Amino acid sequence: MTYKIKSKKLKEKETFEVKNEIPKPSANALFEIKEIKKVSIPHPYMITPKHIAVASDKFSGMLGEPAIEEAEKKGVYCDICKHRVSKGLQSEIIPYSEHKEQKTLFLQMKTDEKDLNKVEGLHSYLLKIKPLLEKEKIEGVAFIPETK
Ligand SMILES: [Zn+2]
Repeated sequence: MTYKIKSKKLKEKETFEVKNEIPKPSANALFEIKEIKKVSIPHPYMITPKHIAVASDKFSGMLGEPAIEEAEKKGVYCDICKHRVSKGLQSEIIPYSEHKEQKTLFLQMKTDEKDLNKVEGLHSYLLKIKPLLEKEKIEGVAFIPETK
């Protein structure tokens, strides 16, 4: 239970307002805006106790980029990468600098059409909002399949 509350809070923190409001699709469109949030690409960077040890020994406990990069020089890497490489799900360890956060617009689909090119109005909507996405530095658009 505690875990659930914690993760909900985290999710709220990741969602944020944009300065230039993205125009909503029309009410009868086959899709709607769900949210805009930061997503970790390809996954969040997973800190290990060894990272914390380096931060505490050399950076007065500050676990920032310098501490993480110093830890990597000592062969301490992202735990998710290590796990995925050992399972053969990923070909190599990715350095900290290549774990990125990307602002993403999530669109909820209201149709079961899997081919996005066939969703009426989607392409023109994306073209219309493109300049705003650029202004807000939103680099990705994700589509959430319709749930029934
Ligand atoms: Zn990783």
